[in-house]
Amino acid sequence: MSSNLDIATDWLDLNDRRYIIAGPCSAESEEQVLQTAQALAKISQVKVFRAGIWKPRTRPNTFEGVGIEGLRWLQLAKKETGLQTAVEVANAGHVYEALKYGIDVLWVGARTSANPFSVQEIANALRGADVPVWVKNPVNPDLQLWIGALERLNHAGIKRLGAIHRGFATHEQTSFRNAPKWVIPVELKRFAPNLPLICDPSHIAGNSELLQSLSQKALDLTMNGLMIETHPDPATALSDPHQQIKPAVLAALLDSLIIRDTNGSNLPQGDVLSKLRQESNAIDYEILEAFARRMQVVKKIGQYKKEHNMTVLQVKRWNQVVEDRLDKAARLGLDTSFVKEVYEILHTYAIRLQSNVINPEDEN
Ligand code: PEP
Ligand code: MN
Repeated sequence: MSSNLDIATDWLDLNDRRYIIAGPCSAESEEQVLQTAQALAKISQVKVFRAGIWKPRTRPNTFEGVGIEGLRWLQLAKKETGLQTAVEVANAGHVYEALKYGIDVLWVGARTSANPFSVQEIANALRGADVPVWVKNPVNPDLQLWIGALERLNHAGIKRLGAIHRGFATHEQTSFRNAPKWVIPVELKRFAPNLPLICDPSHIAGNSELLQSLSQKALDLTMNGLMIETHPDPATALSDPHQQIKPAVLAALLDSLIIRDTNGSNLPQGDVLSKLRQESNAIDYEILEAFARRMQVVKKIGQYKKEHNMTVLQVKRWNQVVEDRLDKAARLGLDTSFVKEVYEILHTYAIRLQSNVINPEDEN
């Protein structure tokens, strides 16, 4: 299946990987908005200034955004810095207000894109408006729902359309606030090669430490840019304090990113080989994330064995594991001698980890 999205050809160069949106999670005060925008305007890569005005919060009685008042601050920021402005819209009222105040770019948040009724309401409100709209992936890992939201806006006449990968809620324990599941944005790119796609590493990470590596991964998967939350004093931010970074930190992060000219320049755009490579890169990241989760569980098992005075090596259990995995591997059409080797390495490493849990002093 391929997309019939009608995307304006003159809105974003698909070879560009430097479409950078930055700004605070939330507009908090006129001073905070202007201070952040002024600092960001000095970073040449930053194209668009973002700030949430209406905030979708998990629990009531937390900061839900400053509302319409903040739109005036954004107008002022634009006037003073020349940066384009962007806000999140979650209903028709938000759309009308944002357009009335001359906001340049809109985005649909992850909770909203998960709800077709809300997306349709926004699409209807946007009919006749020529404004770029970015659609974040729905919170749940459902590619069709993401595509559906993009289609609803596109059918309402929005041709300057793009997608933002911000990770997915999952019950699995990961080191991320929202699991990246890179395969999903790569599949979206395969479905709609003409659709600009950027990454929001802030909401994937949930903390500032992982931002650099996530941003690099996104660019390596040929995404067109990034949306990164930036605050003059992250620790005091009224929303998402752990994941926001200061403008100076953003500048250093952007400078550190390598735009790898992999094979792209020699191969025609949309070439099958480069698409397959992107797909295989994304699968590798999933494998590594699964390895990391596996090792967390192994450590917990080690802890349990320690508390119950059990040996690290449980031969009978291990034989059962290998038998079961080789059986599964055969059914998946995998070469079992290869899988056996992988499991031997995994087991040796798991024993080392657990011995460490039981006897932290031991060198092994
Ligand atoms: C945001 O960008 O501040 C936001 C609320 O993001 P998301 O919709 O991805 O949770
Ligand atoms: Mn946020």
